[in-house]
Amino acid sequence: MWSQVKLIKCRRFVAYSFTMMTPFSLSHCSLPFSHPSFFDNMARRKNEPAVRPCPCQSGLALHLCCAPRIDGEDPAQDAEALMRSRYTAYALGEAGYLLQTWHASTRPATLDLDEGGVARWIGLKVLHHIVTGTDSAMVEFIARYRHGGRAHRLHERSRFIREDGRWFYIDGEIDPPQP
Ligand SMILES: [Zn+2]
Repeated sequence: MWSQVKLIKCRRFVAYSFTMMTPFSLSHCSLPFSHPSFFDNMARRKNEPAVRPCPCQSGLALHLCCAPRIDGEDPAQDAEALMRSRYTAYALGEAGYLLQTWHASTRPATLDLDEGGVARWIGLKVLHHIVTGTDSAMVEFIARYRHGGRAHRLHERSRFIREDGRWFYIDGEIDPPQP
């Protein structure tokens, strides 16, 4: 009799614990959530920010788009990819990357992105990517930014060159004449 009561109580306890999904009741279970880290990871994921979209507006996440170029892990494969990553570098304040990808013939000695007040880059639209030679290309784009409480629009046609397999920005024409 006593052993039966004990058994019933024990079953109820286990059933109750399982319903409440406590780590205690699942500690001997072979499923993945039996491991205490399952609950830690679950809590951590809940507090994680959503995946950040890339500022270049490619529709991809930042870590799958421009971040690997800026980090030096995956250099741009063409002029448009370089242009996009340079826009993202402006948006993120990565002056070092902008200098690295600026051709030596036109590169400024220093680059202070905060000079004249911080601009907030809010949008990019690539209009054209024209391959002009084996190792040269042009990219025309409109970049939008906010500065001094006002919205601005930069329409530029940039020139790029490839040297030793790497693309570099040369210069750009602002408000280029349209054909
Ligand atoms: Zn991007």
